[in-house]
Amino acid sequence: MKNLVRLSKSVIGEKEIAAVTQILQKEFLGMGPEVQAFENDLAVFIGDNRQVVCVNTGTAALHLAVQACGIGPGDEVIIPSLTYLASYQAISATGATPVSCDVLLETGTIDPEDAAKRITPRTRAIMPVHYASGWGRLEQVYDLAQKHGLRVIEDAAHAFGGIYKGRRVGASGDIVCFSFDGIKNITSGEGGAVVTADPQIAEYVRDARLLGVQKDTEKRYARERSWEFDVTIQGWRFHMSDIMAAIGRVQLKRLEEFTTIRVRLAKNYARLLKEIPNIRLLNIEYGPVIPHIFPIFIGQDKRDKVRQALIDNNIQCGIHYKPNHLLSRYNLGYSLPVTEKLYQETLTLPLHPDVTEEQQEKICDIIRQCGDR
Ligand SMILES: *Cc1c(COP(=O)(O)O)cnc(C)c1O
Repeated sequence: MKNLVRLSKSVIGEKEIAAVTQILQKEFLGMGPEVQAFENDLAVFIGDNRQVVCVNTGTAALHLAVQACGIGPGDEVIIPSLTYLASYQAISATGATPVSCDVLLETGTIDPEDAAKRITPRTRAIMPVHYASGWGRLEQVYDLAQKHGLRVIEDAAHAFGGIYKGRRVGASGDIVCFSFDGIKNITSGEGGAVVTADPQIAEYVRDARLLGVQKDTEKRYARERSWEFDVTIQGWRFHMSDIMAAIGRVQLKRLEEFTTIRVRLAKNYARLLKEIPNIRLLNIEYGPVIPHIFPIFIGQDKRDKVRQALIDNNIQCGIHYKPNHLLSRYNLGYSLPVTEKLYQETLTLPLHPDVTEEQQEKICDIIRQCGDR
């Protein structure tokens, strides 16, 4: 469809294509020097001497982070239900149980007070999710974790590049996981990263991404591999390839370009929607926050009407997210009122670097007209 306004999309240019071509011409497509270079680029970008380990998806990053904490069957991880299914599957993949908690109405991020109520002797970690790229009351999450001796694994899939307390997201905190899938703030095609200052976690993830083969990473970076080795842990084939890293390295250089556009678009939406009755926006400071998605909340049961009007005009929109505690696999038999209210009201508007201001005006006009009827 020619005039379709897409909800999200990859933005790829000649430089990414040239970078991939160069890798293809080397006829070495596995995990090699390009992945090492991407990890170095990311470590420099994030700063504060953090270790960066790249993997093939954000989901794999979360899964390996949970596993690296020694979390498994019988353990519990507290997580806001308002997140992508991937965060839940990453926890349950280790055999641990994701324990759903509620979010804050103003930001859609984890409610630390509700999280505190869900702590049991089996709780081992909290996984805050930077919903729509904001971090909400992250400080309180760390206070809570410290008080109870819990690890914190941040699902920062939406938040790459953001500035939290004057430093890049990932420069502080316990374990921070990013996604570089096709539609995130930057992409490596598919991909993800675990970022931490804890050398044991980093080493565990480095081994576990390559079937648990001890210290195989160094060999791979030299385009070799281990023939004599030992294995003590469950590993996976979760490593990143040089093709993906080549895309990621170009995209990292373009982050500033993408940031300027994403921030401008979000501020423009906020301006256009501000006067419309029954529309609520998240309380987020764009600039430090680089928005990955732009959810709005529509009161008085008008969400589905607005959604249909946008679809009728060839405008894609989304619902972020179907709460995970409502899925059969993760239903623990209690309800989460704020999460369920947000789910009823939410609609995500198109946000990616190719959205135009003209399109934004059209979208907001349609929303306004729905409210008038
Ligand atoms: C995208 C995303 C993930 C998973 O990342 P993939 O790279 O797609 O596996 C996890 N959590 C959230 C909140 C995400 O948006």
